[in-house]
Amino acid sequence: MRKPISRTAFCEGDSSLTFTLNEIANKRRQEGASVINVTVGSLYSDKGELVSFSKINELIADNLGQKSNSYAPIDGGEIYKRNVIAWVFGDYKDSLMEKYFCGACVTPGGTGALFLVFRNYSDENPILLPDIGWNNYKVMCGQLNKKYEVYSMFDNGVFDLECVLNLSKKSIETYGSCTLVINDPCQNPTGYTLSDDEWKKMIESLNELNNLGPVNLILDVAYMDLADEPRRFFKHIALNKAHFNTLVCFSASKLLGIYGARLGALICINTEKENVEEFSKSSKTTARAVWSNCNHLLINAFNDLCSKEDMISLLFSELETSKKLLKDRYIEARKLFDGLFECEPLPYKEGFFITYPKERASEFSKELIKKDIFVLPLEGKYIRIGICSFYKN
Ligand code: PLP
Repeated sequence: MRKPISRTAFCEGDSSLTFTLNEIANKRRQEGASVINVTVGSLYSDKGELVSFSKINELIADNLGQKSNSYAPIDGGEIYKRNVIAWVFGDYKDSLMEKYFCGACVTPGGTGALFLVFRNYSDENPILLPDIGWNNYKVMCGQLNKKYEVYSMFDNGVFDLECVLNLSKKSIETYGSCTLVINDPCQNPTGYTLSDDEWKKMIESLNELNNLGPVNLILDVAYMDLADEPRRFFKHIALNKAHFNTLVCFSASKLLGIYGARLGALICINTEKENVEEFSKSSKTTARAVWSNCNHLLINAFNDLCSKEDMISLLFSELETSKKLLKDRYIEARKLFDGLFECEPLPYKEGFFITYPKERASEFSKELIKKDIFVLPLEGKYIRIGICSFYKN
């Protein structure tokens, strides 16, 4: 066995299997094979073109030049922070700003926001992750030497709120605090979105737990504006005050179809000014040490977008088209994959992905590759289908 030069540099497994499979599938396409490639988590049109906001290149072109070539402020600057908070809060902005103190920091995509919050908002306590979730959460925990535990997403097809709360309580009792990750709406990889009732109960219960010890709710909203009702959580905390610490991970990748541009933000919502000040300081310190500055051109383009009402209306109408495309794709995908996997997918509401339970998922997906069907095996027992990239070539 080869001895690694550095133990830290040694990694087992393939942390970016999606990208590896996608490359193989694209190669097969170039060779002329008829390929079904549903590994990718980006939205493609039926013509196989990446769906991006139609005005994004105009916004980028308008911002080329010196003011974008300079370093961006580490936290994105006052205008970006104001804009990104306003975007995420949507119609609930005024009531949320009245009730809470809020801070933000620009990040390289949603990934940067998650890295930042995992780094700074868990101590000895394990980060609580969904048992069926975005696999990069676990990769990040590994890189940051953070422990994690998993809660079950579903119990008999119903969101397992009880498990989430039990694990959170156990964490507070054992470690004095809890750090809980919820990816909502349009969860990756199931496409589940919490209902109004589920959010209401979750918020009430987290408030109760917060009396026992600090609760950090990490809300990953990477697919937010692709849901029919994207801001349920914000609606509820505008009505019923959240006493726990909320850390929202925002991504512009899916919102604007700018996956390669790496724009996102981490937002803190708290009832205490000091907690938000601490957030702002620690976020800037970590950002400075890890990536220093983010993409200034895209920060400026996003700020421009936020200042133009006609562009925002256009974006919302294009998002409606994307949602309709995903609804149609869901119907088409079920026709093919229910038969292939001989079962129904896990509870799906909306979004980019559906997931099927499948014994020996890795072996099964390798068999499918021989038929030029590329899917993503998860945890050896699930298979993710990116309906977002389900088009015929
Ligand atoms: N969170 C989830 C659940 C995701 O699926 C992704 C991307 O696939 C991200 C966060 C990160 O998105 P970004 O590309 O903006 O880093």
